[in-house]
Amino acid sequence: MNFDFASYLQRDIFPIVTEEADALGVEAYLVGGHVRDLLLNRASKDIDIMSVGRGIDLAERVASRLGLLEKLVVYKNFGTALIHVDSLEIEFVGARKESYRANSRKPIVEDGTLEDDLKRRDFTINALAVKVNSDGLGTLVDLFGGIRHLEQKLLKTPLDADITYSDDPLRMMRAIRFASQLNFTIEQESLEAIQRNAHRINIVSKERIVDELNKIVLSPRPSKGFKLLFNTGLLHQIFPEMVALQGVETVDGKSHKDNFYHTLQVLDNLSNHTDKLWLRWAAIMHDIAKPATKRFEEGVGWTFHGHEDLGAKMTPKIFKNLGLPLHDPMKYVQKLVRLHLRPIALVKEEITDSAVRRLIFEAGEDLEDLMLLCNADITSKNEEKVKRYLANFKKVEEKIREVEEKDRIRNFQPPVTGELIMKTFGIGPCKYIGIIKNAVKEAILDGIIENDEKQAYEYMLKEGMKLGLKPISA
Ligand code: ATP
Ligand code: MG
Repeated sequence: MNFDFASYLQRDIFPIVTEEADALGVEAYLVGGHVRDLLLNRASKDIDIMSVGRGIDLAERVASRLGLLEKLVVYKNFGTALIHVDSLEIEFVGARKESYRANSRKPIVEDGTLEDDLKRRDFTINALAVKVNSDGLGTLVDLFGGIRHLEQKLLKTPLDADITYSDDPLRMMRAIRFASQLNFTIEQESLEAIQRNAHRINIVSKERIVDELNKIVLSPRPSKGFKLLFNTGLLHQIFPEMVALQGVETVDGKSHKDNFYHTLQVLDNLSNHTDKLWLRWAAIMHDIAKPATKRFEEGVGWTFHGHEDLGAKMTPKIFKNLGLPLHDPMKYVQKLVRLHLRPIALVKEEITDSAVRRLIFEAGEDLEDLMLLCNADITSKNEEKVKRYLANFKKVEEKIREVEEKDRIRNFQPPVTGELIMKTFGIGPCKYIGIIKNAVKEAILDGIIENDEKQAYEYMLKEGMKLGLKPISA
């Protein structure tokens, strides 16, 4: 594991940091995630500069040299200062020593040495420092074997694991997030300590937990993170509805699939095709109501009737409990959960144009995402079966394309407006308008008339007259 830090530090803003730290007479280091990511050859835009004393002074001097003093944001309470330079986000902080109390993840903070500062960090791979002063420029400080652990792809705490996680339980989420994001292994001692301390996650704010959870969701193979959350007991604390998916029941020799592992398989499948956070969340949520709708029916076997509708209904509360946004993303997830069986159902039936039109109309601009989800939802231990289902599903996709081209249903605006209905029949706003509009829409979706202005107008006249209305010109 090698990286030429001395050359790296002679570019961008670093020479200014070097000069100002030298002039101030403090030692300064590049620390934490940025060092790790350089060694791993990963892009990272947030940079931490730690100086042994006078962190904010150093930040002010550097900002002023860059002509950005006005833009410097100083957090006096935390002893940190932040500036944005181009696309980089640079945080300055003085070396600190931390001690923790039982009921808060906020430590008592004092000024500390380089070593104090590195040993309060969460993982050895995040506790590397690189000197930025001209004397020793680029020298790597590795007090806890961080380089070796990067090579071994190992997550290990610098100090005692139990104390590290108990002090700040967010670190448990971070451990699993890094394992999933970087495909690293969590050291056994750490795993056990996380199991013992999982209940303490409750002293961490939802926002911080869900930040890490979303990083797990966005990792290359999210099942890795979710299995770790499950096995350590953290998932039980933060997302019990997902835990309830786990398990297999058998009656009369018939078992249903384990919906937890199925959900993870769907999530991984989908993650091969999309990086969209909320689409991945739809995979997590798609079967969430299976435990609540599960029945064993004589002669039929296991059923989960209505789990798509109940799942959609459960979504707002789950999002709220997790601290996820309740506006558009939630509505989008809800919609995909509600519709997730519809394309699959088309495989079984003789596909009628009208069933396809209805699906296109209801999915609207989220149709492609829905199809990606449904493709990912085709899982089985039997590879032949998966192949056959996927082939059938391709036919549905073709049919959708056909109908789509023919009928332009996607961003369908019914050609008859409320305005036109009022004008035609000389009426004001009333319930008839909704009834007529809906009848026209249904007629188009059912294929009784085409998506065409003239046909829609005729149909509107007929429907109005059925209701006892008379066109005023007639
Ligand atoms: P990323 O930026 O990819 O989220 P990171 O490791 O850089 O990962 P940051 O939140 O940017 O995470 O934190 C920067 C550094 O601060 C970390 O590398 C680590 O050394 C330290 N750190 C952050 N959070 C904690 C924590 N909860 N406990 C101990 N050290 C932490
Ligand atoms: Mg970072």
